[in-house]
Parts: sequence; C-alpha cells; structure tokens
Amino acid sequence: MRAMCCYDLHSHSTASDGTLSPTALLEKAGAAGLDVLALTDHDTLEGIAEARQAAAELELELIPGVEISVTWKAMTLHVLGLNVDTDNQALLAGLQELRVTRDQRARQMGHKLAKAGIPDALEGACRHARGKVLSRTHFAHFLIETGRAASMRGVFRNFLVKGKPGYVRGEWASLEQALGWICDAGGLPVIAHPARYCLTRSKLRMLAGEFRESGGVGLEVVSGSHNKDETLHMAAVSREHDLFASCGSDYHGPEKPWAELGKLRGFPEGCTPIWHADAWPVATAT
Ligand code: AMP
Ligand code: MN
Ligand code: MN
Ligand code: MN
Repeated sequence: MRAMCCYDLHSHSTASDGTLSPTALLEKAGAAGLDVLALTDHDTLEGIAEARQAAAELELELIPGVEISVTWKAMTLHVLGLNVDTDNQALLAGLQELRVTRDQRARQMGHKLAKAGIPDALEGACRHARGKVLSRTHFAHFLIETGRAASMRGVFRNFLVKGKPGYVRGEWASLEQALGWICDAGGLPVIAHPARYCLTRSKLRMLAGEFRESGGVGLEVVSGSHNKDETLHMAAVSREHDLFASCGSDYHGPEKPWAELGKLRGFPEGCTPIWHADAWPVATAT
C-alpha cells in the first residue's frame, strides 16, 4: 500500500441504483487509482460479498457499507454506515423492513403515475431494478426510456419530487433506529451529503447535535454533490460538532457525469479524517 491512501467512501452498484456490478465498480476504482472504496448501496448489503471478492483480487481495500434512508422531522436524510458487520441481525432486519417500505412506496408511485396518464411505470421500474432494491432512479430510467423526459435532472424535477405526479413520501427509519442498527453492527455512522438537504443553519445544528447524541461520528464534508463553498461550510460544521470528516463521490455509474469515482477535492484545513477514528479498520488507516 502507498504512503498516502486514496479514499472514496460512498458509492453504489447494481445492488441498488448504481449501474455497475460490484465487480465492475471495484475494477473502475482500481483504474481510478483508489486504495480504499466503501460500497454503500441504499438499504442493502447485498452487493458486498461480490465486492469483497473483487477487492481481494484487485488488492484494494473494501469498506463494507450501506446508505440508510431516514425520516427526520418529516424530511428524508441519508445516513451511511461504514465498516458494518454484514452478518449483524439487527442491521439486516432493519434494512429488510426498509425494502418492504420501498416496495409499498413503489406500488403507490405506479398508481399515481397511471392516474397521471403514464401506465406500467411499476413494471418498467422493476425491469430496470432487476430484482434488486427498487428506487426512484429506476422509475427515472423508465420515464426517460419512454420519452417522458430527456434527462435525469428533468425527470426528477418534473415527475419524482414533492408536488409532482410520481412523488410518494417514504416513511423511513428514524434517526435513532438507523444509528442503533449501524452501531450494533460495529459500524461508523456518517451523515451523507449534508448540504443536499438545504437545511437552515439552526436545523443543521440541531441535526448534528441529535446525530452525535445518538452515536453518530462522521459528516460527509467532501461529497460529489457539494460545491467548494458547501465543502467549506460542512468542514466548519464537522469541527464545531466534533465529527470526523468523510469523503465520498456518491458514484452511481458512468452515465451520471456529476460524480466521478475517486475524483474528490481534499479536506479543508482542520478536518479530522474518519480513517483516524479508533474504530477504523487498521489496514487502511493511514
Ligand atoms: P429513493 O431513495 O428511491 O427515493 O431515490 C433516491 C435516489 O434518486 C438518490 O439516491 C439519487 O441516486 C437519485 N436522485 C435523487 N434526486 C435526483 C436528481 N435530482 N437527479 C438525479 N438523481 C437523483
Ligand atoms: Mn441513489
Ligand atoms: Mn444519498
Ligand atoms: Mn448515495
């Protein structure tokens, strides 16, 4: 291993709404010069076994992870669990429940879209999900494929967000539940892409405080969806709340050019990287 490691601690595979298989994702990570990759699919650990095998063959370090859907103050947040025990029963049961919720939401989305004159959306989304975790992204692929929208950006804006015909609010895990499952599985909880929630300063402070009290340890300061100012702001929040700083592209596949695997800015001054946490796996903590 090199003296300086390159980390990307947030990525997706075909186990949820990414478009590369876990093996192809790890190959891409190797080609991008990464040393450490966390696979963090939405509400599932299903891709980890294949990713582990590919990582071993490529001599990369794989951090087994997950991105958990959370409802906090009537809004959806994403909490990453890094380095979780993939056999932990509490975590596995919690994720299973979330997938049931996802399937129920998907059926409602299908009904709403049908009422809006777009039939067969659930079937179309399921075709794209191929039996894996069903997400709004799969509805988006169907809507683009059938000519209802030209781009991912457009399809979310016009169909899949609050007030639009395909939107159904998800009722996800509570913050305490998600952190409980992650901690039970020995993992490190990290708030994913915190700038994306457009929280007021006081709400963000409230979230960071509650998160820390419930066992949270990290904030994704550097994210594929943060601009420079957002990165600086989140660095300050991580310092203020004594949270470790994490970095992840949130890579979903080659056709989503806004977040390239491993192409991340460095941490601003004064951040403590999450790989300095005591609980971080020793092999990768440089
Ligand atoms: P879900 O968890 O099923 O509600 O789907 C959320 C996923 O949709 C996110 O993880 C992103 O991958 C994707 N997504 C959300 N908003 C957008 C957007 N504006 N453009 C493209 N993808 C998006
Ligand atoms: Mn996603
Ligand atoms: Mn997310
Ligand atoms: Mn993600």
